[in-house]
Amino acid sequence: MGRKVILTGDRPTGRLHIGHYVGSLRRRVELQDSGTFDDIFVMIADAQALTDNADNPGKIRDSILQVALDYLAAGLDPAKTHIFIQSQISELTELTFFYNNLVTVQRLQRNPTVKAEIQMRGFNEDVAQDNKAGIPVGFFCYPISQAADITAFKATVVPVGEDQEPMLEQTREIVRKFNATYAPVLVEPEILLPDNASCMRLPGTDGKAKMSKSLGNCIYLSDDAPTVSAKVRGMYTDPNHLQVSDPGKVEGNPVFTYLDAFCRDEHFEKFGACFQGRKASFEFHNLDEVKAQYRAGGLGDVMVKNFLDAVLQDTLQPMRERRARFEQDLPYVVEVLRQGTEAARAVAAQTLAEVKRAMRINYFEPEGGLI
Ligand code: ATP
Ligand code: MG
Repeated sequence: MGRKVILTGDRPTGRLHIGHYVGSLRRRVELQDSGTFDDIFVMIADAQALTDNADNPGKIRDSILQVALDYLAAGLDPAKTHIFIQSQISELTELTFFYNNLVTVQRLQRNPTVKAEIQMRGFNEDVAQDNKAGIPVGFFCYPISQAADITAFKATVVPVGEDQEPMLEQTREIVRKFNATYAPVLVEPEILLPDNASCMRLPGTDGKAKMSKSLGNCIYLSDDAPTVSAKVRGMYTDPNHLQVSDPGKVEGNPVFTYLDAFCRDEHFEKFGACFQGRKASFEFHNLDEVKAQYRAGGLGDVMVKNFLDAVLQDTLQPMRERRARFEQDLPYVVEVLRQGTEAARAVAAQTLAEVKRAMRINYFEPEGGLI
């Protein structure tokens, strides 16, 4: 049986939020602790983050330690997982350069995630009107660089949110093209999506389709308790649920989507008191019962939000405590990144050497000599 290797990561464009947690981070920690993988690499994708933040490198730089702290707080363990910084591994850019030749502009233009992101960032406004507009070449090509990141480690499994599906498909195409054209050195990765539909793409607190650092609709893993409570209180719900007695809608209501993603039956034993009020009291044992009552009417948003707040605090509190401890020892965090990066570089260098041999551009090696 072949080796089982994980590669995944995040862009250091800010601290990590609960969408990252349910979309990928929670699963990574489970996989790490399952002990069934030969190697696990988690990348802080600073070079990719620069593709749409070239004018703001300070933000990327400042976010690196924040993301590393979020990782350690969530339970990634440097003894089991290599945490590394993308830009410090120049082999990745070399691989990207060779893969660029295996992909067409037309193929990149069809990528639905890149299309949506271009739209969101306003890159496709008329270049003639504003010479700042237009699509940065690096941004347009980031799916190719992502293929380099994944294949450099011969990753077999990539645990990510649903928005990454087109990137994985692009990577698989590059692997097939490379292996067929040169020699079979690259490994085709499998995507590992969250098993719960609500976690595929967690919506924002404003009800927008995706919680995203760039949209400012996030609950961060590092938010303190009062901040989380305030964000939950202000959340978008069903706009037609005006009176408590009105029937409410669960579908498309982010309060329920978050409960789908976070709540477990034992939370009802712990936090059942949230549903006990002066005007009405309910005894729920699971989320389905809450949904049924909400749909029927009589259950107010305030009660459901108080329960969600309790569930989120329960999930986030242990992470906050771990984060606070690591914040006291930043030199340790930097050392984790340094060692993780060294380990990752050794593997990427090995793959790059194999790639060059496969392409027969190893001119100065004895078996690749020009004469
Ligand atoms: P940016 O706006 O800078 O792109 P982002 O919030 O989209 O930031 P990324 O770093 O691009 O975050 O994504 C990191 C990982 O988190 C990916 O695996 C992505 O699929 C997942 N992810 C991001 N946002 C969500 C979300 N709202 N729900 C589920 N998964 C998510
Ligand atoms: Mg993103």
